Amino acid sequence: MPMQKNSRYLVTAALPYANSFTHIGHIAGAYLPPDIYVRYRRLAGDEVIFICGSDEHGTAIEMASIQEGVPPQQIIDRYHFANKKGFDDLKIEFDIYSRTSNEEHHKTAKEFFLTLYEKGILTQKTDKQLFSEKENRFLADRFVTGTCPVCGYENARGDECENCGSNLSPLELINPKSKITGDTPVVKESTHFYFPLADFQQKLDEWINTKTDWKQNVLNYCKGWLKTGLKDRAITRDLDWGVKVPLKDNEGKVIYVWFEAPIGYITATKELFQNKGDAEGWKKYWFDENTKLIHFIGKDNIVFHALIFPAMLMGHGDYILPYNVPANEFLNIGGLKQSKSRGTGILVKDIVEKFSVDSIRYALAATLPENRDTDFTWEDLQARNNNELAAILGNFVNRTVVFAKNKFENKIPVRSSDSTESVELFNYVRNQTTLIAQNLDAFKFKDALSEAMNIARNANKYFNDTEPWKLIKSDKDKCAAVINDCLRLCFSLAVVFRPFLPDASDKILKILKSSIADLKWDDAANPKINDGEELGENIILFPIIEDEQISKNVKTDSNEAANTQSGGDDSGIGLITIDDFKKVVLKIAEVLECENVPNSKKLLKLRLKVGDKEKQIVSGISEHYRPEDLIGKSIVLVDNLKPSKLMGIESQGMLLAAKLGKELRIVTTDGAIDSGAEVN
Ligand SMILES: [Zn+2]
Repeated sequence: MPMQKNSRYLVTAALPYANSFTHIGHIAGAYLPPDIYVRYRRLAGDEVIFICGSDEHGTAIEMASIQEGVPPQQIIDRYHFANKKGFDDLKIEFDIYSRTSNEEHHKTAKEFFLTLYEKGILTQKTDKQLFSEKENRFLADRFVTGTCPVCGYENARGDECENCGSNLSPLELINPKSKITGDTPVVKESTHFYFPLADFQQKLDEWINTKTDWKQNVLNYCKGWLKTGLKDRAITRDLDWGVKVPLKDNEGKVIYVWFEAPIGYITATKELFQNKGDAEGWKKYWFDENTKLIHFIGKDNIVFHALIFPAMLMGHGDYILPYNVPANEFLNIGGLKQSKSRGTGILVKDIVEKFSVDSIRYALAATLPENRDTDFTWEDLQARNNNELAAILGNFVNRTVVFAKNKFENKIPVRSSDSTESVELFNYVRNQTTLIAQNLDAFKFKDALSEAMNIARNANKYFNDTEPWKLIKSDKDKCAAVINDCLRLCFSLAVVFRPFLPDASDKILKILKSSIADLKWDDAANPKINDGEELGENIILFPIIEDEQISKNVKTDSNEAANTQSGGDDSGIGLITIDDFKKVVLKIAEVLECENVPNSKKLLKLRLKVGDKEKQIVSGISEHYRPEDLIGKSIVLVDNLKPSKLMGIESQGMLLAAKLGKELRIVTTDGAIDSGAEVN
């Protein structure tokens, strides 16, 4: 079957934020899949460039710089170079790994902004913002802490309460304070530029509807946003660190990081071609409709890449729009979400010290969170390496090469004729190669990998069924043909596994003394080995991973989880004992009265009957429930929560609710039960 030939692809991987080290969840989400894809595309003869770089602006970096007392440059250098090395170690090979702090990027981002401005697309709005007179600056959301208006947590951030997960704005915080100086800010007006995303609602809707081949998770996400209705988004902020707004009277303002970071893909492409001495070369990748622009990202970035950036490109004009946005879900570690603050992330810089690049790439590729969150465990890495890589693929290559060494003077035996079995075998390889390509074309990397391993399984079966150890005595010519077939199979395996396991593929081709330079995907079904040639040195492709190597890591993980709990992270992930749980008294309560809290967008005040007593609580659910919906309902109450005041109203407990994205539902009982009943 002919494949799509000579297409042009511009493949991007999400720009990692340069204030933390990348972990394996990032790799499985947005970096290994495009690397596999790009390697495959190149083998298939397509013209591909692969773009990435560090995202180096924003409040988190400015904040880290102030807290550590070092220039922002020092923070971003630390993570940029470490993360670049991590990608190199994992053989994730970008054509360029740029940085948004580069001058070229500032220039490109400003030009983009000015074009939208000059076309009259941008709007301006004046908002109230917190301003520190002591620091003489506006305080961006992460620069403010205060009491959460929803749950009463005293160290809520200006953008989010880490205790209850509510999205906040700094003005909603009770007793706001500057995180740097502790200064109490005043409210001041500030004018900002907005990108009118709402104006692009219809165009985006029509465009998304043409994307019938996109992954379902991505389409669902986009359609959810479109259904809710897109809102205009502020694209400037009062900060020092970032791309300055390129207009007069806008001192102290920078372009918001979510707006300029994706423009980084354009800048990196420009830089790549400048480095090649072809300053105009980037244009065919961004302006030519025949180029397929593909953004690989994690699900937390879908809205930026599938809606906002396309709208920016539509507004600007000239640029092509994304061809596909194959976003992945999340990879968890032993059931825990990867999180730096909770100590559950496995950092790239650590794992590459312990295991081979092939073992890591294989274990991650076999566990990619393509359609749902998946779980990584060290035991799985060990089992994948030992039971699949070593026992199936490594074993086949090794037994074949050892046989040729012992019985055919370490040479590729010359074949005299093609047996029926041999013809059938390579017809099978041809069909598998097509099937793998179809899966890779459709971003189904796990299926592609599993079909590649099926070739290795069948190769072992061929070796077993033909019994070369018997043939060598009874029919040496036939034995030579079988071993020749097996060596050709080694070549096929080196090709189909090449996108996944570049190291192992190189090693196999080196043993076979086959040329790597002109390798093509189609060669898998037409192996290029030289009959009669002496084989290279045999090496064990996938050494066994011993139990001790694994138990060491498992121990480290649980230590980290334990540290996390005692470290005061009260987000509730991590394991607790039954005694911990018993500290929480949960009771059924009946809602007697319910009303809105004046001047609050989020709070409802509830009067509850809990057995023979009454209680009052304040809950941040008014965006999801009207007061009259709740009266008479049975809810689950945390009865022994320390009372707190929310907007001056005492709250004597907390109700339980389930939240996913924007959806929130209170927890209630299956059938009637009297209030005061204990829940356990
Ligand atoms: Zn809260």
